[in-house]
Amino acid sequence: MMKTFIYLLLLSTFCRGAEANEVVAIKAGRLLDVDNSKLLQDVVLTVVDGQITNTGNTVPAGARVLDFSDKTVLPGLIDVHVHLSVNAYDGSYESLGISVPAQAISSAANALKTLQAGFTTVRSAGAANYTDVATRDAIGKGEITGPRILAAGNFIGMTGGHCDTNLLAPEFGQRDPGVADGPYALRAKVRENAKYGVDVIKFCASGGVMTKGDDPGTQELTLEEMQAIVDEGHRMHKKVLAHAHGTEAIKTAIRAGVDSIEHASLIDDDGIKLAKKNGTYLVFDVYNDEFIREEGRKAGLLEETLAKEKLVADAQRENFRRAVKAGAKIAFGTDAGIYPHGENAKQFAWMVKYGMTPMQAIQSATIDAATLLGKDKQLGSLAVGKVADFIVVSGDPLANVQALEQVDKVFVAGKLVYSKP
Ligand SMILES: [Zn+2]
Repeated sequence: MMKTFIYLLLLSTFCRGAEANEVVAIKAGRLLDVDNSKLLQDVVLTVVDGQITNTGNTVPAGARVLDFSDKTVLPGLIDVHVHLSVNAYDGSYESLGISVPAQAISSAANALKTLQAGFTTVRSAGAANYTDVATRDAIGKGEITGPRILAAGNFIGMTGGHCDTNLLAPEFGQRDPGVADGPYALRAKVRENAKYGVDVIKFCASGGVMTKGDDPGTQELTLEEMQAIVDEGHRMHKKVLAHAHGTEAIKTAIRAGVDSIEHASLIDDDGIKLAKKNGTYLVFDVYNDEFIREEGRKAGLLEETLAKEKLVADAQRENFRRAVKAGAKIAFGTDAGIYPHGENAKQFAWMVKYGMTPMQAIQSATIDAATLLGKDKQLGSLAVGKVADFIVVSGDPLANVQALEQVDKVFVAGKLVYSKP
C-alpha cells in the first residue's frame, strides 16, 4: 500500500511533463543562475520528461520551442512557511466555527493561488488534523492543482502554549491534537505525525503573536523536551522546525538541534552566532506585519494580538538586517495565511529594504530554501539533472525585485500550470 502510494507520488511528481521523451527547448532572454549568483543572457534550457537535460545556447534538432527571449526565467519559488488551511480574514474566535473539511477545501483553493503566484514548492508549517497532508496527496494524484507540499501536520507543543489554541473556557476542554508534556509524550506526538504521513516536524518553542494568553518572549518546552522532539524527528529522517520568537527560546531550540528557527524575532547576536555555528536556518517572516497593521482589526484578530505584534515586528526586521549582515543562513518563509495566500512574493521587497540584495532574497526562496528542505539535488536552481520547475517574469527582478509580484507563467516539471490571462 505504502509502496504503491510512494510510486504514485513519484510518478506524479516527476512525470507530469510534456509527451514522454518530447524534447522542449526554453529560450530565455535572461536566466537567473542562483547557484553562481549570475544573470545569464540568451540561454536555451533543454527539458526532457520534466527534467533539465542541458543548458546552453543552441536549440536541439526537433525540439518544441517555448520562446521567452524578452523575459526572465528563474527557478520556481519556494516558501518554507505557509498555512494553507488558514485564511487571513478567518478571525480569532470566528475560526472556531470552521470545520476540518472546510479547512481542507480552503487549502485546495489556497494551494492553487500559491502556485499561480510562482511558488512551485511550499513547506506547510502546520495544519491541525492533517489537511496539509491531504492537500499534498490530492495534488500528487492530480485531483487538484497546487505546488509540491512538504507537510508538517499537527503542530506539536505544550499545554497552554502557542501550539494549543486557548480561546475557550476550561469546561469546553479544548486541546489541540499535537499537545503533550514531557519528553516521551512529545516523542509519541512525533511518531503519531509520522504515522499519518507528515514530511517535517513543527513544534512551538516560544509563545506567539496570533494566539491568546501566551507571550512571544517566553520559552515553551524545556531543552530536554525539545531534544526529544528533534531526536525523534531526525531518527525518522524528518527535518524539524521550531516556531520561536523569544531570545532564549531561539537559542535553546538551536542547541536542541532544530533545522530552522521560524520568526526568530527577538534573536540576539549570540543567537545569530549560534545559528551560524550549527548551520541552523533562520526564517524571518518580515512582510506580514504590514497586513496585521492595516487589516488586523477588520480580520477579527484579538486586541492582544495587535498589541503583541507591536512588540515584535520592528525588532524582527532590525534583527533580520543584523542576521543578513552577519552572513547567517536565511530561507524565505512568509507565514502566508496570516495574510492572503498568493501574495507571498510581497515579502521580497521587504527583505531587500532590510538589507538583502535582490539576488540574496531570490536565493533565499530558491537554492537556499531547497537546501533547508533537503531537496537541493532536485529543486532550487535550473541546473542539469534537476526538475524543470521554473517561472517566467517580465522585467529584471535584480533591478526591481517587485517584478516577482507579477508572474507571467509557471511551469512544474516542464509542464505549464499557469499563464497570466
Ligand atoms: Zn506559522
